[in-house]
Amino acid sequence: MGFLREMGVGISVRRRLVYVVSMATMLLAGWSLATSTQVRDRVDDSTPPSVNQNAEHGKKGQAMKFRQSKSGYDITPLSCEAVEELASKLDPEAYHITQGADTERAFCGGLLENKKDGVYTCVVCGLPLFSSAHKFDSGTGWPSFYTPFDADHLTQQVDNSGGRVRTEINCARCGAHMGHVFDDGPPPTGQRYCLNSAALKFSEKGSPLPPESRPAQTDVAYFAGGCFWGIEHYFQLGPGVIDATSGYMQGNVDNPTYKQVGSDTTGHAETVKVVFDPQRITYRRLLEAFFDMHDPTQMDRQGPDVGNQYRSGVWYANDRQRKEAEAFIKELSGGDRYRGKKIVTQVEPAKTFWPAEDYHQDYLDKTGGACHVSNPW
Ligand SMILES: [Zn+2]
Repeated sequence: MGFLREMGVGISVRRRLVYVVSMATMLLAGWSLATSTQVRDRVDDSTPPSVNQNAEHGKKGQAMKFRQSKSGYDITPLSCEAVEELASKLDPEAYHITQGADTERAFCGGLLENKKDGVYTCVVCGLPLFSSAHKFDSGTGWPSFYTPFDADHLTQQVDNSGGRVRTEINCARCGAHMGHVFDDGPPPTGQRYCLNSAALKFSEKGSPLPPESRPAQTDVAYFAGGCFWGIEHYFQLGPGVIDATSGYMQGNVDNPTYKQVGSDTTGHAETVKVVFDPQRITYRRLLEAFFDMHDPTQMDRQGPDVGNQYRSGVWYANDRQRKEAEAFIKELSGGDRYRGKKIVTQVEPAKTFWPAEDYHQDYLDKTGGACHVSNPW
């Protein structure tokens, strides 16, 4: 395996043990991987979780918390049993590489010269990992990309094998070994994701993707409830919420800045865009959380923040949301929760959402600051 050292190849001691036992098992019992599972569990138990993010794949019978990537794919780690079942269908080369951290020969992979438009998915579980838009010729002999399809779709771990320190990359969903990432790539990232062709499956643009390679179903909702820092923070914690982003909506200037919006002249309201999985959380539940987080009876202000940009609003993305929001507000108005005070929340069709400057995103997490908004979950 001398050629393997070219890329860095190498298999860590832990992986090598798993791999050797797996191969021996396969030889003795075909593709039955029962014994390798037992060994992997035992070995993973001795591995610090902070070093090996894939240890979570090695726990048997453990229910995994649902996770969805920024781009909307289900990246919940697969169980050990599920990975084994999928891996048992691989050809020997793909098995060696993805399950044993092996490396194919340089200049021999089937996808090295591929220049077609399309997506590169994990050969084991089908998760999209790289796009043809980011592929480049590195001259190394292995397919190379300067950025992943979605950073959430890969995990990284330190690989000390082969007498040097490298960063191994793995599929975030199934833990399959993909290759390594180096800091000698081209602009704009300066990174080189060095892949094994056999760890990937290519689907040409226009061809149908299998369900496991498609994004999970997502929906979007927009809420304005005063300063977006706290609203974004707590929406992000919602079960079934994939992502919450701070931004500006309902104004009359494109690409508004915080300063412009703060001047109270652009008509924008500080708004939080909520991307959610409608299978796991309803729009109604989001409405409930939103009204728990702010006071809808305050006109053009919220707590200490005064101005039109802090108004209360539900910007509906479709007519179904409009009906639900109006019905919910009517319901609230009929109760005694606000002691007779009128709900002034605006319900309007959503205009363009303009994301706020980076420093506003995840503001409470970054600053450790507090906010007048309380946790609605
Ligand atoms: Zn995978």
